[in-house]
Amino acid sequence: MAAVLTRDAAADGALRWLRAARRILVFTGAGVSTESGIPDFRGPQGVWRTRDPARYTIQNYLRDPDVRRERWRDRLDSPVDSAQPNAAHRAIARLQRAGRAPVVVTQNIDGLHQAAGCDDVIELHGTTREVACLQCGRRLPTAVVLDRVREGDDDPHCEICGGLLKTATISFGQSLIAADVDRAMAEAEACDACLAVGSTLSVWPAAGVPAHAVRTGARLVIVNEGATDLDQMADAIVEQRAGTAVPAIVDALLGA
Ligand code: NAD
Repeated sequence: MAAVLTRDAAADGALRWLRAARRILVFTGAGVSTESGIPDFRGPQGVWRTRDPARYTIQNYLRDPDVRRERWRDRLDSPVDSAQPNAAHRAIARLQRAGRAPVVVTQNIDGLHQAAGCDDVIELHGTTREVACLQCGRRLPTAVVLDRVREGDDDPHCEICGGLLKTATISFGQSLIAADVDRAMAEAEACDACLAVGSTLSVWPAAGVPAHAVRTGARLVIVNEGATDLDQMADAIVEQRAGTAVPAIVDALLGA
């Protein structure tokens, strides 16, 4: 059964701009995955309500073994490994398969767009599904390193070069991968409409992607529960849950 998109001016506007677009850029944040059981950072149940983001810098990770041990313990208990894509991820994958949104740019590190069937995803903040050696760059599946942590190696190092291991995510204080940012910006320029889902659009330089899309002539449609920092740039704002609004939008666009 097709999901229901509230029939209001915002929903009508969203559909009008997205229907008119030849190329849609989907840009997602943590809010697209909360319905899969992964908390966001700044929403009402967000991680930063109970934790201090200042502790989660790359500098702290490099200098303090206790911070690293805490991060590995957290990673052992992370909901990411058991999370499944939700209706919003699946709808975005349908839009991609239909050729309407060839590229998804995400701030998420959970791999759920790929699990839903998206095959071109730019992960601006990296992935928690892999671990990287901060010295030699070797990449390993996270599951392999978590087995070592479970067996008592609570601050694992690279078995080849002895360097520090860290999930292949971008921490505060760490630079994004320039090639990923460049490609995301090129996609922002190439699109006619940007559909931003589940993000406060407050983390930079990532939020520069939808902002660049608008500056270079695209329409901006936001699906988010709560305000975002780019609301004043938006052509339509649908303030609904992603798992309801996104499938309804995609059904309407694809004529399901
Ligand atoms: P954010 O936490 O700043 O904002 C999330 C927004 O989504 C909030 O406005 C919240 O109200 C809204 N939201 C929550 N659930 C929603 C739902 N079901 N439908 C619609 N809206 C919903 O997240 P952000 O803007 O992505 O930026 C924070 C950083 O969080 C990113 O760098 C990202 O890497 C990281 N992060 C990622 C994950 C993940 O991979 N799933 C989880 C937590 C944080």
